[in-house]
Amino acid sequence: MDKVFKLYESGLVYYPFEGTYRAINSRKCVSFNLSDVSTDEMMDGLHSHCIDHCDSVKGRKERIRSVMKRLRYLVSLKCSLKESMSGSMNIHQILLKYWGYSSFRPVQEEIIRSVLAGNDTLALLPTGGGKSVCFQVPGMAIEGLTLVITPLIALMKDQVENLRKRGIPAEAIYSGMSRREIEISISHIHYGQTRFLYLSPERLLSDWFLEMIPSLKIGLIAVDEAHCISQWGYDFRPPYLRIAEVRKLLPGIAVIALTATATRTVVQDIQRKLEFRKNNLFEKSFERRNLAYVVSKDENKHDRLLKIFGNVPGTGIVYVRNRRKTREIAEFLRKNGISADYYHAGLQSSERENRQNRWKNGSCRVMVSTNAFGMGIDKPDVRVVVHIDLPDSIEAYFQEAGRAGRDEKKAYAVLLYEEADILDARHNLELSYPDPAVIRQVYQSLGNYFQLAPGTGRDLVFGFEIADFCRQYNFKPVIVYNALKFIEREGFISLNESVGNPSKLVFIARKEDLYKFQVENARFDPLIKMILRSYGGIFTEPAFISEAELAGRLSVSQNDIVKALNYLQQQQIVEYLPKSDQPQLTFSSELIRAVDLRISPEHYLNRKKDAEKRLEAIIGYTTSDKSCRSKMLVSYFGQHEAGRCGICDVCLNRNRAGLSELDFNNIVEIIKPLLKQKSHSLGELIAACRNISQAKVIKAVNWLAENDKIEIVDDNLFRWSG
Ligand SMILES: [Zn+2]
Repeated sequence: MDKVFKLYESGLVYYPFEGTYRAINSRKCVSFNLSDVSTDEMMDGLHSHCIDHCDSVKGRKERIRSVMKRLRYLVSLKCSLKESMSGSMNIHQILLKYWGYSSFRPVQEEIIRSVLAGNDTLALLPTGGGKSVCFQVPGMAIEGLTLVITPLIALMKDQVENLRKRGIPAEAIYSGMSRREIEISISHIHYGQTRFLYLSPERLLSDWFLEMIPSLKIGLIAVDEAHCISQWGYDFRPPYLRIAEVRKLLPGIAVIALTATATRTVVQDIQRKLEFRKNNLFEKSFERRNLAYVVSKDENKHDRLLKIFGNVPGTGIVYVRNRRKTREIAEFLRKNGISADYYHAGLQSSERENRQNRWKNGSCRVMVSTNAFGMGIDKPDVRVVVHIDLPDSIEAYFQEAGRAGRDEKKAYAVLLYEEADILDARHNLELSYPDPAVIRQVYQSLGNYFQLAPGTGRDLVFGFEIADFCRQYNFKPVIVYNALKFIEREGFISLNESVGNPSKLVFIARKEDLYKFQVENARFDPLIKMILRSYGGIFTEPAFISEAELAGRLSVSQNDIVKALNYLQQQQIVEYLPKSDQPQLTFSSELIRAVDLRISPEHYLNRKKDAEKRLEAIIGYTTSDKSCRSKMLVSYFGQHEAGRCGICDVCLNRNRAGLSELDFNNIVEIIKPLLKQKSHSLGELIAACRNISQAKVIKAVNWLAENDKIEIVDDNLFRWSG
């Protein structure tokens, strides 16, 4: 199908949309038909067109450059797509051409074939198990757009960038983007034959998206981090529930759901909530043969940390609970000669990227971080992941620990704890569930704070300073924070502090109107001129700006600049999206009256009970030394048939009995039933193990006694107690 490219004077490409032309503004435009105009011709046409109405030579050049950039991008998309669109490529050719691999990893191909056969498919693959290939390859093989729903903006941006690098056009739409940015993405979808649209779940039922669905020609729905749909999971996100409604609008379109952490209950729940036509699960073993899990009870974690990095060469990650600790531990490591840096969501995004890159390329050895670090970062040669604080759940621990040793070489996942950690964790859990009355009070104050009337507020985004809010309403921050988290889990708001968006600005006024405004408001003239001079292409699409920079150049305060830009926005001269160094709060649904905020006691208690169960599971993992760590972890995810790993602290401890696993198991198999029945003497046990040497039996019995599996009753008789 030929598409007519329209290029507006502003440089914004627009599109024929289901036979209609929707223009953002009504300016003159030039049209191209890509199939009958060569790129060069098109560029020539543009040159002559774009230089009208430009006030300076520099501005003109900038504008042409930016228009060209956009066009080149669109043309390249069209060209790169021609081949794969011809439909002749099979999945192996697609894998080779775009990913450079000649074969799939275990289970990937079965999953892809299931999707291509039109089946709803759930893929349970551990971290690093090659999840994205499972929906990206069929996405390329199927005609139409693949809609990818994923909750993490950082991950989304990363995947889009990766796809584009491979020559596959992809777009992302998420909260925090301005209307203009969304429109630009949409125009790419219609022009550029975009193959993948990444969407954050809260965008799913917005009016514009529902309206657009028929024209998108969606061929596949991929739901990443699918455990977020289940309230039994550790990371329930209510907007995920909307996916079922979107499915109703796309009858017959298959869905592929993917997750790296789901218990059996969650596996069932995902398939039900996504309305699978038939249950269909593919899974890969969660066993990681090269990863040694170690739990160590240590009063002095700092010393232990130094020992670990002294013994295990290579890159590492240290996870801690709060931001302050990231800095402290990193400084401690540096003081002791270990190159380290710290990372958390509160750092400027450029700084985060910087640190991440230094760690990735090996110039920094250890990253000390909150759980904000690691998602979407694929560094295969991490040798050790240390947790200094107790994680919230086995799900979270398994994902974070799993970032070690993706290259299949020996690696360690170490969890350090002391008795107090367990008490603290239980206490924190209590705090996370404030009284329902308090939750209601916080919600009501939120409406007052933002001056919202009931029934309004949906999709509004606010900068939100928790300290200011607490001061005004006399709340304790920790209570407010936990109340907000609860309200977020119930789907009324979403909090977003991890996306460090820099300020963005774009001119939306027509040229003539801007000129008129400048004449009438002379005091804004220097600022407007400065912006135009400083940021090229700012008429075409939103540009990153720095208020501080503008303030410096104009010798005024930064605050003045922010005020002026807000005023220009009110006058519809510009669209201004201030940076979000502070957390942002979005209302996911209309404000309701606090009395209507239904927190049913059962619901509340169930949630709390689930959280307690998850916490007790990780505490159980931490404090037990009876069973192989790997076995404990994978059986938590329902894979009970896994064997002992032989390399975790529990297994190594057992190996110290000096027996092979085979001998040890043989002996236990014989003596366990005997000792369970009644007490036996050592001599009787040796006699019972007829074909095994006496020395081996003694070793095994000693080990079992030392590890409290058997106890000695009077007269040197043994009895089973484990
Ligand atoms: Zn083990």
